[in-house]
Amino acid sequence: MSDSAGIVRLIMELRHHGIQDRRVLEAIEKTPRDLFVEDAFKAHAWDDTALPISCGQTISQPYIVAFMTEHLETAPQHRVLEIGTGSGYQAAVLARLVRRVFTIERHRHLLEQARRRFAMLGLTNIETRLADGHKGWPEAAPFDRIIVTAAAARVPEALLDQLAEGGVMVIPVDTPHGYQELVKIRHTPHGFERERLIPVRFVPMLSGVPRREDAPEDPPPERRGPHKERG
Ligand code: SAH
Repeated sequence: MSDSAGIVRLIMELRHHGIQDRRVLEAIEKTPRDLFVEDAFKAHAWDDTALPISCGQTISQPYIVAFMTEHLETAPQHRVLEIGTGSGYQAAVLARLVRRVFTIERHRHLLEQARRRFAMLGLTNIETRLADGHKGWPEAAPFDRIIVTAAAARVPEALLDQLAEGGVMVIPVDTPHGYQELVKIRHTPHGFERERLIPVRFVPMLSGVPRREDAPEDPPPERRGPHKERG
């Protein structure tokens, strides 16, 4: 269902909540979110809410997609790495803003669905990989921008290594207080500068790739493996 009234309402809501970047708002307007949600939720595709997708995951709330994309400060020549393809929605929004998007997902089923959506939309500047995103995509590094759409226990060191100088990463990170916060990391000539943005709620970033794709749910977060931190 292409709901033009719903699209206009969502864009107005995003503006009302402080999203100003016209390129970001345009990219959201042009990306049919209804294509990225399950049939049962099509009527809510343009609501400003997160929705369930397969494999126990979620498509992020449009406001959070807009907020993170705005904070990425993208430019048309950028190469961007995304960890957590999920439905593919965030990658599709980015694909309208930058030269090339590299997106990594650990669930094969989600990745295959997302690839079909990219093809349907004619988005040919998205490369996908089935892998554990903690390791990044070394062969394609460095990246101008990195966006992580699952909550990490700590900022994975490999991702800092793969962020170009001058680059920006936006990533949700667990805090010791039991909530997550969105962190913006800038790679300056003097090192990594961290800025705390807003409290958020993302599904956890898990280790490894599920062996059996018929397993409906991920293991609980406490089984996440340890990762080195830096930055
Ligand atoms: N960006 C997505 C939202 C993703 S939800 C969208 O626009 O729909 C978070 C996704 O991160 C889930 O699909 C989950 O499977 C994936 N994920 C979690 N840990 C991961 C890891 N270590 N590597 C790659 N993907 C991961």
